[in-house]
Amino acid sequence: MNIREYIKTNRILYTISQFNSHSNIYLVGGGVRDLLLHRSVLDIDIVFETLDYKFLDYLTDVFKVESIIKSPFLTWKISIGDIEIDLAHTRGEYYREPGALPETYPVHSIYQDLKRRDFTINSIACILTPNTGDIIDPMDGYHDLREGILRVLKAGSFLEDPTRAFRAIRYKNRFGFIYHPLTEEEFEHAKKLMSRISASRVRNELERISVEENRKEMFREIGLKKLLFHWRDFFNTFREDMLVSLHEYLDFEKDTWFYFLLVYTRDIEALGGCGLLERKERRSLERILALDRIEKEIMPEELHRWFRKFSDDEVLAAGALQGLKKEILRKYLLRRKDVRVLHDAEEIKEMGIPASRLNEILTILEIEKMKGKLRSKREEEQFLRVLKSRHTFLP
Ligand code: ATP
Repeated sequence: MNIREYIKTNRILYTISQFNSHSNIYLVGGGVRDLLLHRSVLDIDIVFETLDYKFLDYLTDVFKVESIIKSPFLTWKISIGDIEIDLAHTRGEYYREPGALPETYPVHSIYQDLKRRDFTINSIACILTPNTGDIIDPMDGYHDLREGILRVLKAGSFLEDPTRAFRAIRYKNRFGFIYHPLTEEEFEHAKKLMSRISASRVRNELERISVEENRKEMFREIGLKKLLFHWRDFFNTFREDMLVSLHEYLDFEKDTWFYFLLVYTRDIEALGGCGLLERKERRSLERILALDRIEKEIMPEELHRWFRKFSDDEVLAAGALQGLKKEILRKYLLRRKDVRVLHDAEEIKEMGIPASRLNEILTILEIEKMKGKLRSKREEEQFLRVLKSRHTFLP
């Protein structure tokens, strides 16, 4: 399907193409790249050289949305169902210092806007209206796309913004491309200034990688290129075995990203202090590392002794690091989902079981229930009485 035909089939792009505009409105960035690669367009980034409020009104009307959210730097956001569209005036950027966020200023030509971007394959624009489907490609991005080459726009690109090194790894491995020699050289530059990037920017890059199908290759490359080590020097190991099992066990979700940090460091103290982690994430890692060795041939239900308070992701990450079989972990997670103790905490305490032992007693009770025993409240009660009589520590 050619570009014009694709635009007709995409509700949002088609609607925009129907706006009667005097000046060009473009699709830019990843959307055009994916369109040219015959992939579905997931990111819709729209830019215009002239701000026309009629265009914003048109979008609000046809998509029946309440409003278009104005953000800083001449950008707007509109949500249509679960699709977000980013709208922006064509902009230039400059960096006050390497690693800082760029300062932006409006420009009135798409060519200047395309020049501020990261790679040639992301620096192509497609006119949506009025000349729907025309391509503007001053950096020869389409050539690189066809050849499978990831090329920076200029020497020193990663000096301006070292996070582009993470982006490069993401695109190269996602599309199976090779680096242009100019891009290869940039990694050395990125390393020099890596330490200046803020924790939130590094976090953002790693979160994005953790949802990628080829995240294993991406995290491996980060390890081999020592990018995180150059950010903070306690990221000084690389555990391939750990990477492989985490990749295999964990879902492709953004919030699994921080488990992968264990591939590069075990220094949780330093990790906690570097600003990358939220408190909850730090606690998760501490909990996982504090676990004793768990027997490999264990019955799924018995895992409850260690994992009762663990979230599903924590169970999978801990299990991966302990070398437990994924199948056993999945079985355990499935069984514990349905387990319901019919006694509440008060009732158990009324039976003479002290609060300090509640957790332990509930764990044992839940394990029995996961095994399919103690179906009725009466059976639970009998079991609790036996437990009480067997445990001399109980009053
Ligand atoms: P993805 O498919 O990963 O979402 P994308 O191209 O949509 O890729 P975004 O991060 O959404 O990526 O950025 C949109 C566009 O903005 C990019 O295509 C690129 O042109 C530009 N861009 C984003 N980040 C940078 C950066 N750090 N430096 C230069 N240009 C950037």
